[in-house]
Amino acid sequence: MKIRFWGTRGSIAVPGKDTTGFGGNTTCVELLLESGRRVIIDAGTGIRALGEELSQRDRDLEIHILITHIHWDHVLGFPFFEPIYWKGCRILIDGAPTCMKGLRYPFDNMMGDGFFPVKFHELSARITYLDRLRHGPLVLDDTVIEKVELHHPQGGYGFKFSWGKKSMVFITDNELRHDGWKGRKIKDYVRFFEGADLLIHDSQYLPEEMETKKGWGHSDCLTVVDAALSAGVRHLILFHHDPSRKDHQVEEMVALARAMVSDKGAFLAVDAAREGDVIQL
Ligand SMILES: [Zn+2]
Ligand SMILES: [Zn+2]
Repeated sequence: MKIRFWGTRGSIAVPGKDTTGFGGNTTCVELLLESGRRVIIDAGTGIRALGEELSQRDRDLEIHILITHIHWDHVLGFPFFEPIYWKGCRILIDGAPTCMKGLRYPFDNMMGDGFFPVKFHELSARITYLDRLRHGPLVLDDTVIEKVELHHPQGGYGFKFSWGKKSMVFITDNELRHDGWKGRKIKDYVRFFEGADLLIHDSQYLPEEMETKKGWGHSDCLTVVDAALSAGVRHLILFHHDPSRKDHQVEEMVALARAMVSDKGAFLAVDAAREGDVIQL
């Protein structure tokens, strides 16, 4: 699987000199499965540049888009994703049960108020809601995709991709909490990403910031490291950077996380998601 980060930021896009390193666009991750099938996770502002790159290729495309949840930072780029205006493009949507509502809203509900000049039914691409993940795993060629419910206001889904002997887990906008939330505890997530080759997980905050951010639906980096170690994950990528976190502060967060790993004498590679980075798994 090839993974490319098009948007790594949480909450709101933050272009500018302080974010050129890790990127200012909101959540969008492109996956190329072993079969060559393209799956996109979330339609944050990062999806615009991805659409632009796809426009250099054959426009007769089939793309799967999985939506974690419909908070603005995860759907805002969709109206600017060029392939939705191509006749030969087929887009298959799945993910959180509200995903279609979130993708339609900028076109239909706001149109009358002048927020966007196009209606959803005017889009040229064939857009279909698969509605598979709500009921069980989604199988795409040789890859099985499973979901886990997020600890996040209004909920959402995290995803696990398994193929052959490998697995990759993507969980953003999730608050790992020792006191649990709605009956689900950290150990339940640990079970979900047990043995993953790669875990990409929300770590918007530092431990000392959690006192004022409890219940906001995001994790602190050290709780994420601890859970990844418990699950025997090989590589952890910190994701959904706080909009006010400058590049050097993200580097400091990575250093803090790596120090925790070495203090425990454990082995876990830790990095922060960086816009434009490509990972081959
Ligand atoms: Zn978010
Ligand atoms: Zn959210």
